[in-house]
Amino acid sequence: MTLSQFENELTIHEHTQAGTLDEFHRAYEAEVDDIRSDFGATHPLRIDGDAVETGETFTVTNPGDTDQVLGEFAAGDETHVDEAVAAASDAFDEWKETSWEERVAIFRDAADVIQDRKLEITALMAYENAKTRNEAIAEVDEAIDFLRYYSSELERNEGYTADTHEPTPGQRCVSDLQPYGVFGVVAPFNFPFAITVGMTTGALITGNTAVVKPASTTPLTAHAFYDALAEAGIPDGVVNLVTGGGRAVGQPMIEHEDVAGFVFTGSREVGLEIQRTFDELGKRGPVVAELGGKNPVIVSDSADVSKAVSGVKFGAFSFSGQKCSATSRVYVHEDIADEFTEQLVEETNDLSIGKPENRETVVSPLIDDSAIERYDDICETAAADGTVLTGGSRIDRENLPTGRYVEPTVVTDIPHDHALATDEHFLPFVTIHPVSSLEEGITKANDSDYGLCAGLFSEDEDEIDTWFDRIESGMCYVNREQSATTGALVEAQPFGGWKYSGTTGKFAGGPWYLQQFMRQQSRTVVG
Ligand code: GLU
Repeated sequence: MTLSQFENELTIHEHTQAGTLDEFHRAYEAEVDDIRSDFGATHPLRIDGDAVETGETFTVTNPGDTDQVLGEFAAGDETHVDEAVAAASDAFDEWKETSWEERVAIFRDAADVIQDRKLEITALMAYENAKTRNEAIAEVDEAIDFLRYYSSELERNEGYTADTHEPTPGQRCVSDLQPYGVFGVVAPFNFPFAITVGMTTGALITGNTAVVKPASTTPLTAHAFYDALAEAGIPDGVVNLVTGGGRAVGQPMIEHEDVAGFVFTGSREVGLEIQRTFDELGKRGPVVAELGGKNPVIVSDSADVSKAVSGVKFGAFSFSGQKCSATSRVYVHEDIADEFTEQLVEETNDLSIGKPENRETVVSPLIDDSAIERYDDICETAAADGTVLTGGSRIDRENLPTGRYVEPTVVTDIPHDHALATDEHFLPFVTIHPVSSLEEGITKANDSDYGLCAGLFSEDEDEIDTWFDRIESGMCYVNREQSATTGALVEAQPFGGWKYSGTTGKFAGGPWYLQQFMRQQSRTVVG
């Protein structure tokens, strides 16, 4: 069979190549204006293909302008989870019997639908989670990549079906991979489209059915994905969307006896709780989880300092550090520490903070009030226990609407084992630690519960080899000036973590991801 070739969707790169970047920016700006008029509607749950109203709703507002209401969303509860799981269970038998070629056709069609609506979904994110245009379009690209890459993986592996053997005459053996049943999918606010699409597609394309709960702050883009799947012809009940809170919806999903497996991206605390609940209830299905990071960057004395400053600045502060992959600790060689730190502070002060839809914005507002309270807390601790080199305050400027704007913050004189340097904060906050050697940098970088992303800046091949051999991290990037630790590309840079950064060690957008959603069966007929 001829394999379809997978290629990344790279909108900004292509516009840059074609010299049409200004056109893209104009089209984006028109879309941002256009979709404003769509806001304010009430959005139901989607169960078994039906729109389901609930007695209660919750309001979603724009983090960049908290006076702007984006919509009312149905607040699901345990009864809705029961209904959604029942619909997904009923749909399972037929869906698992649907040929893998038919399933792939639906996901390829969904990718096309999303490609047609790329600008609209990109613009939605400016309002929904305050993502800047370049990052939002890269996220929609990533979602399309997940749909197409997982489709091509199913094709490459021929649906994971036909591994036949005849070890002795008359003995016919077939080994294949089969779905488990209903998966729970719980998605984060920071990549509300790409991660929701990736996790849900992993579960569904392999023949499972699903109940999806988006983050309560970002249900709009989850609806956009649901609509794309519906338009692509996914049968009723295969995917069900239940919006609502973690306690009201997430918890009953985890505990439901007919939910066989779970896929989750979010905090370590919640991910481990899901795993514990599965264990306590004796569930045997998988918990596929990505659980955050505390991502270290080492800057060697051989480094190109400007590259390192650029990589750390974008790694730590784009999307206000609200990424599992954000750069959060820097171990810089003491001989260049002053030069590096001064330049980092200077360039951080020049970063544009503002509304995400503004072309120049790099640092966008924080997602919710709890984030801003955490920001206040850690900045207060940093001022008391260390030295705040820049940042540390909320921003209240006349030209900004009511939003959660804060300064990107660089801190030093913090011991490497201080909570500021060990805990994930999910905020625009980075600590700088001078070290006397690469060796010390690697030891300190590895002295963490997490192992998601790591960066190195070095111009020395031996150092690079040593670092690759010794660093305990799922994603390892060298000399990446556009961002030291964030921005993985599907297929080229499968995304996942070691240690407490993940549960399975098999990465999203990589060749072993889909197998996690299936279990093996080996069938033998004699005679
Ligand atoms: N995949 C994203 C990146 O490479 C991060 C995802 C996350 O924060 O969960 O930056």
